[in-house]
Amino acid sequence: MLSEALEQAYNDQIAMEFGAAYKYIGIAAYFDSEDLPGFSHWMEMQHHEEIEHAHKFYRFVLDREGTVRLGSIPSATSEYESAEAAVAAALASERAVTAAINAIFARAQEEDDFASFPLLQWFVEEQVEEEASVGELLAQVRRASTNPAALLMLDRELAGRTSED
Ligand code: MG
Repeated sequence: MLSEALEQAYNDQIAMEFGAAYKYIGIAAYFDSEDLPGFSHWMEMQHHEEIEHAHKFYRFVLDREGTVRLGSIPSATSEYESAEAAVAAALASERAVTAAINAIFARAQEEDDFASFPLLQWFVEEQVEEEASVGELLAQVRRASTNPAALLMLDRELAGRTSED
């Protein structure tokens, strides 16, 4: 069974992953309104991934005979100053998630909660990938920021993303 502290941490993480999904759908709406459907599609895929993450934690709490307690999710904006600002917000969100997962991992280690380790290890690796892909996108958007044609080319490339990427 989960300790009270870990149960709370996992419940907080469920809300954080849904919150990240909420943030991404706001970013997707921003890009759609900017007529950048490739970016919008890419962010929608991120949105769906975050919901899957929330479900992983949700399932884990139940499997460990914990109680799911759904906290509140902050509102999310669909208004950004620029494509760069929107992608930068996504990266900031990923970094916050990484820090939260690291904190749960530290707590699980403190408690010798071995059953947590494989799940959290998966998330640690996932966050390395997430930060790398969003960070790479941010670098590309920055390079394209003074060149509308480059931004459109990037948009076309992002339109081709499938769920496996
Ligand atoms: Mg996530």
